[in-house]
Amino acid sequence: MMLSARAQSINPSLTLGITARAKAMRAEGIDIIGFGAGEPDFDTPEHIKQEAIKAISEGFTKYTPTSGIPELKQAVCNRFKEDSGLDYEPSEVIVSCGAKHSIYNCIQVLCDAGDEVILPSPYWVSYPEQIRVAGATPVVIDTDEESGFRINAEMLSEHLTKKTKLLILNSPSNPTGSVYSEEELKSIASVAVENGIWVISDEIYDKIVYDGFKQVSIASLNPEIKARTLVVNGVSKAYSMTGWRIGYVAGDKAIIGAMSNLQDHSTSNPTSIAQKAAVAALSGTQEPVQQMTVEFEKRRNYMVERLNQIPGFTCLMPQGAFYAFVNISGIFGKSINGQTINNSMDMTELLLSEAMVAVLPGSPFGADNYLRLSYATSMENIISGLDRIGELINRMG
Ligand SMILES: *Cc1c(COP(=O)(O)O)cnc(C)c1O
Repeated sequence: MMLSARAQSINPSLTLGITARAKAMRAEGIDIIGFGAGEPDFDTPEHIKQEAIKAISEGFTKYTPTSGIPELKQAVCNRFKEDSGLDYEPSEVIVSCGAKHSIYNCIQVLCDAGDEVILPSPYWVSYPEQIRVAGATPVVIDTDEESGFRINAEMLSEHLTKKTKLLILNSPSNPTGSVYSEEELKSIASVAVENGIWVISDEIYDKIVYDGFKQVSIASLNPEIKARTLVVNGVSKAYSMTGWRIGYVAGDKAIIGAMSNLQDHSTSNPTSIAQKAAVAALSGTQEPVQQMTVEFEKRRNYMVERLNQIPGFTCLMPQGAFYAFVNISGIFGKSINGQTINNSMDMTELLLSEAMVAVLPGSPFGADNYLRLSYATSMENIISGLDRIGELINRMG
């Protein structure tokens, strides 16, 4: 075999085929409504763009320190303090090429072959692949509507073994939109501390929460859990900057140092001009993210209400992020035009071919009874997309 065992351990993206087909149909002039977006549909705010333009004009276009420019690390510390009450020094922060890269580096420096990583399901699609690339094993804890798609201390304890190294938490969650409360995090944190487990807390959606909910960082609960937690965040979601590729981690100095060594010999620094733009995003006005969240909340309310009116569909109200994770198991076994729906991929393919609506199946998120619909698209699209889905379901026998 030409490919390394490592390369062979990575699963091809199940969603890629669907996305490619939706794209091809659109290119043919077919009017597809897309609910697949994993990024805000708003433009990057103007003051952030201007800072990048200024950086180019001033020739800020060379290598920077691998772990990020000092002013960005300071801006990251200030934001952690203001948003979550977390005290970090710049030496406890590393900036990477997107939060996905941050998480990848965390897992690479923490996990050896044979280590187990606890992964609550439904999970973000990249976690299991990144765990496997490190030679470690994902240990999945399934959750459903009953627990609000959240694990508790008991479920965590039941899945611990001598090989458990790490727990990955993602609150607010992609794909479910669930958010852990302070109380829930406290009990999870005590299990982690008692058993000497590390925690990656992916808080990339921390500023996109609804109903006045306050997102709490697990690292802010006490010094013991803070010492064992790597808090991951970035500018992609909150500031509509997915293409700029800036993410960051704060945590234990020795781990951050190891990540910096790894980055030294792989990517080097994240893009210089994007770092300048990220300083503007983190230090400037936070109004754009507040306005965006107001807009998302309206769309969420409408979309979830409509989804729950469709016979056979049920959808919990997400408390954060910009996805509705809808349970479609109520229509499994039903058919249309001789096609029977038995899983999330069947439904996804049917919606694309018969209703011209693109969604993501739940299977790559570890949850085959569900579909993920992003509401990072216009209200007009949401209205007509849901009309189309509703009409299709009504035609099913
Ligand atoms: C989007 C996303 C990320 C990473 O985003 P970057 O663009 O790489 O910064 C990380 N975690 C989750 C859960 C996400 O949805």
